[in-house]
Amino acid sequence: MRPSRPHLPMRPLWRCRNCGAEWPCQPARLSLLSEYQGNRTSLLIYLSGLMAEARDQLAKLNSHHVPDLTDRFITWARTRN
Ligand SMILES: [Zn+2]
Repeated sequence: MRPSRPHLPMRPLWRCRNCGAEWPCQPARLSLLSEYQGNRTSLLIYLSGLMAEARDQLAKLNSHHVPDLTDRFITWARTRN
């Protein structure tokens, strides 16, 4: 088996270090869902913290326009089983 590189965010751009997609990319979402299986509340708390951090950093990069990151960080984790 070849070792898989983790899909982690690259700050302050919040793109995936591995695949370059906006983080959390699909592989990152899947690995978070499996890591936090049975513990959805903790996952949502964790994602909320990251979303706040990403929002601050992205706003600074974007003339202080504050992006809405709820779908990107939260909605998928709340709705998927
Ligand atoms: Zn990725």
